[in-house]
Amino acid sequence: MQQITIVSGKGGTGKTSVTSAFAALSEKAVFADCDVDAANLYLTLTPENYREEVFPGSKTAVIDQERCTQCGLCEAYCRFDAISLTSEGFQISEFSCEGCELCMQVCPHQAIHMEQSMDSRWFTGNTRFGPMVHARLGVAEDLSGKLVTLVRDEAKKIAGEQGRDTILIDGPPGIGCPVIASITGTDKVVVVTEPSKSGLHDLERVFGLAKSFQLRVAVIINKFDINTAMAKQLERYCQKQNIPIIGKVPFNTVMVDAMVQQKSVVEYAPQSNVSREIRRIWKKINEL
Ligand code: SF4
Ligand code: SF4
Repeated sequence: MQQITIVSGKGGTGKTSVTSAFAALSEKAVFADCDVDAANLYLTLTPENYREEVFPGSKTAVIDQERCTQCGLCEAYCRFDAISLTSEGFQISEFSCEGCELCMQVCPHQAIHMEQSMDSRWFTGNTRFGPMVHARLGVAEDLSGKLVTLVRDEAKKIAGEQGRDTILIDGPPGIGCPVIASITGTDKVVVVTEPSKSGLHDLERVFGLAKSFQLRVAVIINKFDINTAMAKQLERYCQKQNIPIIGKVPFNTVMVDAMVQQKSVVEYAPQSNVSREIRRIWKKINEL
């Protein structure tokens, strides 16, 4: 079973449009949207027959004001400055609390307990191209890496059960924890970039990350013709780093039109120059 992760150094490069086109071209794949902060692959793959599950999130300390004697011990011990005295007694900021439970241990009156967030969700459904797993991280939740791992594990489980040979992962933007969780252990990392200064900068960052995990990387330059000089600069960088450029997708408004119609571009405009190039790239990815 091969795992292919599509990433970009930042949002707005057309990564999800390209991924949904790959999904439409795949034959026996499971799709995992690992952008748990802002999943959007489902908008074009439109899964049905949803199963929704709760992902138990981080824990936050809560003070029972009736038991609290305002001794201030918890405030003194908290290393994250999450506890402060207000006109309503000692309060804990849910944004600063790291859930270490120390305050609960030191409180002499057992006035503190932990509450687990139940705001995050993960979903499985069936798209017209195969099963899909995605998730939604609750507001101010910080377990994105764990949720990404869960999405990938579920996709792997479904692939095993249904005899599917590919897991196509739509990775989150950036180079943070959820990106690391999306690329570790995958067979191929495909970076979608665009011809701009920030595109080059983000490619450098994401390539550095993938290299540190010794992963095989290939690059797609999306909308390469909107700035050919910058596209050449990207090519020179890739050549220097020995990264194969497996495709250069031209700018075409059919990409956006397809999304508006909740379709992948290869379904919406199969004869367009964009679709021709994406079909060629998909073939190349499978040959890598
Ligand atoms: S340690 Fe317990 S009793 Fe003391 S201020 Fe904190 S919550 Fe209140
Ligand atoms: S659980 Fe830890 S971080 Fe949160 S308020 Fe208590 S001591 Fe501070």
